[in-house]
Amino acid sequence: MEKGWNGLPYNTIADHYSNRFGEKVYKIPVSVVDDCPNRRGLKGMQTCVFCDVWGSAARSESLTMELKNQIETFHTHIAKKYKARSFLVYFQAYTNTFTKLTGLRHNFETALSYDFVKGFVVGTRPDCLSKGVLDLWQEYHQRSFVAVELGVQSFFDDQLEFMRRGHTAQASIDAIHKIADSTQADLGIHLIFGSPGETDEHIIRTAEIVNKLPITNVKLHNLHVLKNTPLEEMHARGEFTPIDRETYSHRVKLFLQHAAPHLAMHRLAAFASRWEELVAPKWTSDKMGTHQYIIDYLRAEKAYQSQFFQTDDVKTQTKILDIRNKSLATVMEH
Ligand code: SF4
Repeated sequence: MEKGWNGLPYNTIADHYSNRFGEKVYKIPVSVVDDCPNRRGLKGMQTCVFCDVWGSAARSESLTMELKNQIETFHTHIAKKYKARSFLVYFQAYTNTFTKLTGLRHNFETALSYDFVKGFVVGTRPDCLSKGVLDLWQEYHQRSFVAVELGVQSFFDDQLEFMRRGHTAQASIDAIHKIADSTQADLGIHLIFGSPGETDEHIIRTAEIVNKLPITNVKLHNLHVLKNTPLEEMHARGEFTPIDRETYSHRVKLFLQHAAPHLAMHRLAAFASRWEELVAPKWTSDKMGTHQYIIDYLRAEKAYQSQFFQTDDVKTQTKILDIRNKSLATVMEH
């Protein structure tokens, strides 16, 4: 029997990219900026509580390497390890649009100068979207694949204030519509679960908000504590307790159950790539173990994406029914 979403109880970003490119594509994470409005302290903003000195860079050594060197080094490594042929360059660390347009254009040209690069993905914040940036993305969309990952983190202002994000939930919603109205970039958002005071209702409401947005993908993280972050100090003072794995898995389940079927999920939990810098919770350091734990939990609960998603659109209903049947077959087989 055909399995839903390649045997997983949710729609994966790997499938999303495979459908787009006709083959599996791999991301090359690169770092080309080392700043953001929060770190700069613009308008009284402060560093986000969870952000370490590397600004979410996957590899800290990247910050000292030329872009070409980063692409070539990591391409060789990933191509050898996975027999990979196609890649997206992922401008990941810090706020990639918090820089001059000439610099952005140069970086995009460098990325696209390699035959094996099929496009690029840009990570940024809701408050760093000038008209020039949007026009540039649309220009590059005409000749390549362009994706944007927006750090939304939460749709609740009290949680955003706790994280010291320096923008509101409405600012994120406005930014998403602005990108969708001005460009044809493939748009995704990042969310963080586990802020103080978060409840199951917050998660369900988050899925309901996300379902109505013009985005195609979501990356989920648990709020974890890294060394040399404001959150480490709060944790040491007993002012912050990280979400435990069981509660987090339950929240992921709720989000998936209420999420629309077209939304592709990147990963289901945060992963501390520099595990020696992880303070808590320890379960975040075990990338594969955590992933498998959540998958096993979803299967044990017979839960799957869109299980409780409602729509009046007949075409979407038919699609969901098909997905539900395949997903149910998947969960029943395990
Ligand atoms: S998470 Fe992003 S916006 Fe926040 S301080 Fe770090 S680099 Fe800046």
